[in-house]
Amino acid sequence: MGIVVQKFGGTSVADKDKLLNVCKHIINEYESGNRVVVVVSAQGKTTDMLVLEENEISNSPDKREHDVLLSTGEQITISKIAIYLKELGYDAISYTGWQVPIITDDIYGNANIIDINTDKILNQLQKNKIVIVAGFQGVNSLGDITTLGRGGSDTTAVALAAYLKAEKLYIYTDVDGVYSEDPNINKNAIKYDTISYDKMIEMAKNGAKVLHTKCVEMAKKYNVPIIVKSTFVENDGTIVK
Ligand code: ADP
Ligand code: ASP
Ligand code: MG
Repeated sequence: MGIVVQKFGGTSVADKDKLLNVCKHIINEYESGNRVVVVVSAQGKTTDMLVLEENEISNSPDKREHDVLLSTGEQITISKIAIYLKELGYDAISYTGWQVPIITDDIYGNANIIDINTDKILNQLQKNKIVIVAGFQGVNSLGDITTLGRGGSDTTAVALAAYLKAEKLYIYTDVDGVYSEDPNINKNAIKYDTISYDKMIEMAKNGAKVLHTKCVEMAKKYNVPIIVKSTFVENDGTIVK
């Protein structure tokens, strides 16, 4: 039985109906006989709202507290999905980054993952549970919550796929793959069936936010192919390899 990691971004989990749609993707994967680990982002514009509210209090917020604040969005999503899956008759358990734990360095706001203890996740998978992990966050050597930089849930997903030696990693998002340009800006952009790590890193560095730059760098390092797919439309997507 192989491990499959599925990541769903903010738009994909924005409201109750969308959470149900995400649960359907998770259940399909689980019912195909796979062990499923899910990584999710904060719902919709939650993280942007937290940044706005923080800026109303301070122009130079404390870096440690900034990460405590921003990490809360993902915690809401993991619990809601676990509750929803249980409601639908599937056993699930949620973990924040520090609960896993996903160990990072000390760079608040732009931390790098340096290790993941996979024991808890593997234990729960062994018990046939679906494991839901908060994206975008970890814990440093002081026990402080850290965040991985905006868009960082992609990086959590790749890191988990690498450390769990997952058979497949899907990054579900609001477009149906990687295009030559942002398809929401240029309707004539061409969709790639496959794209190399290096080309994707270059595009991400130039602002193609469909994948977080660090996530592609990590995928290249551990040789993890990333399948970018739409949460809303059923088609093949793009493989980054
Ligand atoms: P998520 O919330 O799922 O992480 P993001 O908003 O971070 O999604 O990334 C998806 C968005 O990336 C798309 O809606 C699209 O507008 C944008 N994007 C920018 N460049 C590209 C590209 N080259 N190919 C596909 N999407 C792109
Ligand atoms: N919620 C975080 C952000 O908005 C992380 C992510 O979505 O990947 O940047
Ligand atoms: Mg993103």
